[in-house]
Amino acid sequence: MENKKLNAAGAPLKIGVLALQGAFIEHCNMLRKLDVEPIEIRRRVDFSDNLDGLIIPGGESTVMAKLLYELELLNPIKDAIANGLPTFGTCAGLILLSRQIEGAGEGAFPVLDVVTRRNAYGRQLGSFKTTSQFHGIGEIEMVFIRAPYVSEVYGQARVLAVVNEKVVAVEQGKVIAVAFHPELTEDTRLHEYFVKMIVNCQL
Ligand code: GLN
Repeated sequence: MENKKLNAAGAPLKIGVLALQGAFIEHCNMLRKLDVEPIEIRRRVDFSDNLDGLIIPGGESTVMAKLLYELELLNPIKDAIANGLPTFGTCAGLILLSRQIEGAGEGAFPVLDVVTRRNAYGRQLGSFKTTSQFHGIGEIEMVFIRAPYVSEVYGQARVLAVVNEKVVAVEQGKVIAVAFHPELTEDTRLHEYFVKMIVNCQL
């Protein structure tokens, strides 16, 4: 336990990882590399209000939204994020955090002032890898899998990364969301960026 990252109260940092479907195991592994023990959120009882942060993984946003509703996790998580729970969304996570999804109304947790386009790269370029600049970090590897991109940024949302002239990462308040899968690379810097954000906003 001595090695664990601590929150402002001196307790080990508690970061929940939504574990309903999709690439959640890889996020848990990333957190462990950073000495943070992840808490898998599978059922309503797993989600408590003493979490320091939450990761919403990639997967299938429509399936995830349906499961969130059926498991009665939708409203508690929506309220917690709206009330300032630091949150990191990847791929489907970005879609769920968007105020507007093209052609599909708002996301399940609509806090980001963005319009997001699902499966935005079409069939030919559905999945690809690239490297690009990420604000505050530098060049990082980005893995896109049937990814969305952000087609419009307004209000308080701030752009963190652009690939092929499309916005692929944004930040707003205590929420970071990216269209790609940092958890599928060896690079922990983006998860570290999130952990630092949590610790800094507790100071
Ligand atoms: N295409 C998925 C969706 O629309 C997102 C893909 C992903 O998370 N890798 O939800």
